[in-house]
Amino acid sequence: MLNLVLFGPPGAGKGTQAELLIERFGLLHLSTGDLLRSEIAAGTELGVQAKKFMDKGELVSDDIVIEMIKSKLDANQDAKGIIFDGFPRTVAQAEAFDVVLVDYNAEVKGMLSLEVEKDELVKRLLNRGKDSGRADDQEQSIIENRIKIYNEKTSPLKKYYNNQSKLHKVEGMGSVEEIAARLVAVVEKL
Ligand code: ADP
Repeated sequence: MLNLVLFGPPGAGKGTQAELLIERFGLLHLSTGDLLRSEIAAGTELGVQAKKFMDKGELVSDDIVIEMIKSKLDANQDAKGIIFDGFPRTVAQAEAFDVVLVDYNAEVKGMLSLEVEKDELVKRLLNRGKDSGRADDQEQSIIENRIKIYNEKTSPLKKYYNNQSKLHKVEGMGSVEEIAARLVAVVEKL
């Protein structure tokens, strides 16, 4: 299985690029943010709990997201590969993920890290908030909180994957097509 972690701060363009990559390489797109928003839309207990954190720009508990990932892996065992978007987001999630993947005889093949400047992130997220109606994209203070949490809890994952020689940094500034071409070039080598 070609399992890739698409990584980067909120607003880096992970969702957009994941859609292009799944088409190009015949992979499955698995976004924990999308999964959580479906739970909220369906009004499940998990959704109700998750929403409290998401609305403030905080992370949902590691246990919740790892359970979601396990059930998706169970349901997609014959997938050619999966692009993980927005997961893992903490070192604890990455460690648990490595353990879980062993059960599926799989591993993370590479981490693609989209590198984008902070000012550009805030601009993109506020713009997205106008169209998407996502509550966590509407307010500058919530956006800033998400970026802060990214810097504190999520960005250490670059070191985690670098230690496994799996980190691939990709310039995330420029047009969607330019960034896609850079990602494709990396994936083709994996
Ligand atoms: P973005 O990358 O733009 O912040 P996501 O859709 O990936 O958007 O995430 C939205 C929110 O969902 C996050 O702010 C967080 O509250 C929650 N979330 C998504 N994935 C995870 C995860 N792996 N661990 C904890 N919380 C998560």
